[in-house]
Amino acid sequence: MSAELLHFEEALLRVRQAAEERARFRPPAELAPLGEALGRVLAVPILADQDQPPFARSTRDGFAVRADEANRYAWQPIEGATHAGQQPGGPLPIGAAWEIMTGAPVPAGADAVAMVEHVERSGSSVRLTEGRRLHVGENIVPQGAQARSGETLLQPGMRLGPAQIALAATCGCSTLAVCVRPRVAILTTGDELVQVEATPGPGQIRNSNAPMLAALVAQAGGAPWMLPVAADTSEALDAAFREASSADLLLISGGVSAGKFDLVEPALARLGARFHFTGVKMQPGKPLVFGELPPSSGDGPALPFFGLPGNPVSSAATLLLFGATMLAAVAGAEPSEPQFAMAQLASEVQGKPGLTRFLPARWQPNARGGEPPTVAPVPWQGSGDQAAFARANCFLVVPEELPGLKAGIMARILIFQG
Ligand code: AMP
Ligand code: MG
Repeated sequence: MSAELLHFEEALLRVRQAAEERARFRPPAELAPLGEALGRVLAVPILADQDQPPFARSTRDGFAVRADEANRYAWQPIEGATHAGQQPGGPLPIGAAWEIMTGAPVPAGADAVAMVEHVERSGSSVRLTEGRRLHVGENIVPQGAQARSGETLLQPGMRLGPAQIALAATCGCSTLAVCVRPRVAILTTGDELVQVEATPGPGQIRNSNAPMLAALVAQAGGAPWMLPVAADTSEALDAAFREASSADLLLISGGVSAGKFDLVEPALARLGARFHFTGVKMQPGKPLVFGELPPSSGDGPALPFFGLPGNPVSSAATLLLFGATMLAAVAGAEPSEPQFAMAQLASEVQGKPGLTRFLPARWQPNARGGEPPTVAPVPWQGSGDQAAFARANCFLVVPEELPGLKAGIMARILIFQG
């Protein structure tokens, strides 16, 4: 297999292009109750079933008035009252005020609401406090100002968070058509791997990548599908890839380096894989492989795959960096990018000319006093160091073009949920 190494930005571009192609196949839809819709991807648009707000709504407790009358500071008789939940009152008689509560419909004829804190009251009359002025429309949201009946409020592909769920509820949607979660096959490879429950013998290790990759997939909204561990033989890999062919995305861990038993790429090639790249100038993660297997049915989509290096931190870094975009595409979600941000570097770090480093690090928001976020690398023993990785909440990016990064500069970080 050719060993052309790409700059990570170029590799990201290739994943983005493949994701755009893949996104032309929409996933099937299913119904989800609103209470189970968090994180799901909307399959159909959500329309406003009525104007929002459905009536001119007061945003304050106070008195509905005509602004020009109130601005004369004359006493105005209180001619009625409307609480939230009551029908619109009025019409407001000339020169009068109407008591009103937050969220209540404004009576016909009123064009402003004076806050209760901004009026004087005497018996059943009120007047605006001297020095205050009311503008037409003040403290009122007109009917339909937020949305018109029939207007599209959420587009298919939107990932549903608390705000979108609230909006759907307001539109009367108690169940939502959402995209079926993509099935993401997870194939861990390696003769040294034993089950988590087992006590490893000499030379063996527990398979920690399978649950880690499953967790990353679940976090990104996919349905992890764990395949049995494949041994480091061509036969085992051929059988495993045949089994995985019905998945929407295939993640393979291990077997992509240059060792004698790194047999993943030849096995993929035997199945007619199209490789988009077979190495990235990054550390950890250099042996990363990305491509597509031919469709299992004639008119279906190709099966995208990532061959992730087996070291746990390499697997995580490469999936977090490159996987989000493809996972969004197979999920039917809007295009998604890795979560980069900037943070001020706490201490100097060494670069690795020719390779962009992704160092496990901890960032802190530091919002107090308007300071930028800060980031500090976590001491680590290389890409097998899971304890260090578990203390990190981001990767610090050290560009391949630089000999290193000086303390105090603003550095790029790739954020993940720890
Ligand atoms: P490989 O990419 O197969 O050459 O593996 C690189 C390193 O990652 C080796 O030290 C493996 O033992 C380790 N490794 C591979 N697969 C896993 C896994 N599923 N869980 C934990 N460590 C792994
Ligand atoms: Mg291996």
